This record gives sequence, structure tokens and C-alpha cells, in this order.
Amino acid sequence: MTVVKCFDCGSEQDFEVAVGYCEQCGRKLPVPHLRGKTTARRAFLADKKTSEVGTSNVAVTAGVFVAGVAALITVAVLVVRSQF
Ligand SMILES: [Zn+2]
Repeated sequence: MTVVKCFDCGSEQDFEVAVGYCEQCGRKLPVPHLRGKTTARRAFLADKKTSEVGTSNVAVTAGVFVAGVAALITVAVLVVRSQF
């Protein structure tokens, strides 16, 4: 429940029940401050999602790096062995 006060007649309305319009005078109700919080929360969630993707990318990069190092060591060992 989000109570908002009508700018026109001053009556308090439940924004969700009135669906944005005053039940007393039919004028448009002011948008409750809750929307700003929701946007901030969405931005936070979106940011969290992005960082999660970034973490998985780092994991993939680390995996590729380790595989590359392992291949390099294998090649180096083979080269050293072939010289003796
Ligand atoms: Zn009103």
C-alpha cells in the first residue's frame, strides 16, 4: 500500500488501488517516492548482475591462462628433452 495525497482535492489515496487517478476528483495522483527506490534497487541488481558476469569472465580467462601455461611447460619440457 502506497498512500499519496491528491494535489487537487487533498484527499489521501492508495496509489495502487486508485491506479494513479484520484477516486474523489479523478485527477492524476502524484507518483509515490517508492518508484525512485525501485529504480535504485533495479540499478543495484543490474550492477550486481554485471559484476557476476565479470567474475565468470575472469574465471574463464584464468582457466585459459592456466591451460596456456600448462601447454607452454609441456612444450618447454619436450624441447629440453629433445636436446639431450
Ligand atoms: Zn483528488
